[in-house]
Amino acid sequence: MRIDFNRPFLTGKEAHYMYQAVYTGKLSGNGVFTKKCQRFFEERYGFKKCILTTSGTDALEMAAILCDVKPGDEVIVPSYTFVSSALAFVREGAKIVFADSYADNPNIDADKLESLITEKTKVIVPVHYAGVACDMDKIMEIAERHNILVVEDAAQAIDSYYKGKPLGGIGHLGCFSFHETKNITAGGEGGLLCVNDERFIRRAEIIWEKGTNRAEFFRGMVNKYGWVDTGSSFLPSEINSAFLWAQLENLNMIQERRKHLWNLYHEGLRALAGKGYFQLPDIPPYATNNAHMFYLVCRSLEERTALISYLKEKDALAVFHYLSLHKSDYYTSHCGEVVELPNCDRFADCLVRLPMYYDLKDEDVEFVVNTIRDFFYGR
Ligand SMILES: *Cc1c(COP(=O)(O)O)cnc(C)c1O
Repeated sequence: MRIDFNRPFLTGKEAHYMYQAVYTGKLSGNGVFTKKCQRFFEERYGFKKCILTTSGTDALEMAAILCDVKPGDEVIVPSYTFVSSALAFVREGAKIVFADSYADNPNIDADKLESLITEKTKVIVPVHYAGVACDMDKIMEIAERHNILVVEDAAQAIDSYYKGKPLGGIGHLGCFSFHETKNITAGGEGGLLCVNDERFIRRAEIIWEKGTNRAEFFRGMVNKYGWVDTGSSFLPSEINSAFLWAQLENLNMIQERRKHLWNLYHEGLRALAGKGYFQLPDIPPYATNNAHMFYLVCRSLEERTALISYLKEKDALAVFHYLSLHKSDYYTSHCGEVVELPNCDRFADCLVRLPMYYDLKDEDVEFVVNTIRDFFYGR
C-alpha cells in the first residue's frame, strides 16, 4: 500500500458545521463561525486581536499593508522559505534583503541579522520553519533598537512556543496558514492574522473589509459606513470558518497524534543519525516542537535524490522542500542582487520531508524508517 506524503484530516464534524452555516442563512465572512474561531485563538493563546483570512498569503499581505511598506523600503526575509513570505512585501514595492539560515537549523540566523540592517529597513520577517521557533528575543531586541517592525511568518507554527510564549504573538503582527498541508485546515485554504500591537487593530479591520469601516458601523460606533482606506476582500466565507471550527475543537487530539508520530520517527532514526548518515531536526532549548513536519538533512543533493527515489520505489512518498528564493527566476530577473547564502542552499539541496499526517499509521512510520535503514545499510 502506498504511503502518501500528506493527507488532510477530517474530524467528522466539518460537514455538520458547514450545513449549519448554510441553514443560518449567512454565508459571507465575519459571521458566527468566523467569530468563534477568532475568539478561540484569542482565548487559548492570549493573542490580542485575531482576524481570519482566506489564506496565509493574505494574512502576510495584510501585514505588509499595515506596516505601510513603501517602494524603496527594505524587508529582511530568510531565503529558505515559501514564496509568500517575500511576495507579500514585494507587492507593496519593498526591496527584499535575503538572510541566511543557521548552519544546523533552517531558521533565520539571528546572529547575522544586524549586518543586513540599513536606514531603509522597515520590517523583519522571521519564519518559524517546521513550527520551530526562531530566536525571538534576539530578533525583537535588534528590531526595537533600530525601530523596525517584526512580522512573524508562523504559517507552520500553530500551537508552538518560544520560551513559553505562543508563536505568532511575539512580533508586532503574526501570520498563520490553514492550507491543507498544515496541521489544521480551513477546508483547503485559510489563514489568520494576529494583531499584537494595538496601534494596528482599527486599520486591520478596515483593510480586511475592502477598505471600509463596516466593523465600526456594526458596533454602532458610526452611523454609516464607507470607503476610508486601502484594503481588499480578505475575509473567508463562513463555509471555510465552519470547517476550521471542527478542526479547532479537536486541536489537542490532532497535536497529540502528530507528536506521537514525530517521536516514532525520531526514535527510529536516531541511531542512523548518530552514525552521521544525515542530521535530524534541530529543536533549540527555547523552542517547542508542534510536529508540523519531520525532515532529514542528507549529506549531498545526490544522496537526497537517491533516497527520495528509493522510498518512491517502495511506495513511500517523501519530498524535498524550498528552492532558495534568492536564486529564483522572479527574484533574479526583477530584483536581482547576487548574494551568497550557503546554509540556505544546503537545506535547499539536502533537506527531505517524510510523510506526516494524522491518519499515518505507526506501521507506516516503521516502514519508512526501515526503508531508510535499508537505503543506507542494505544497498
Ligand atoms: C504555507 C505557508 C505560507 C502560505 O500559506 P497559504 O495559506 O498557502 O497562503 C507562507 N509561509 C510559509 C512559511 C508557509 O509554510
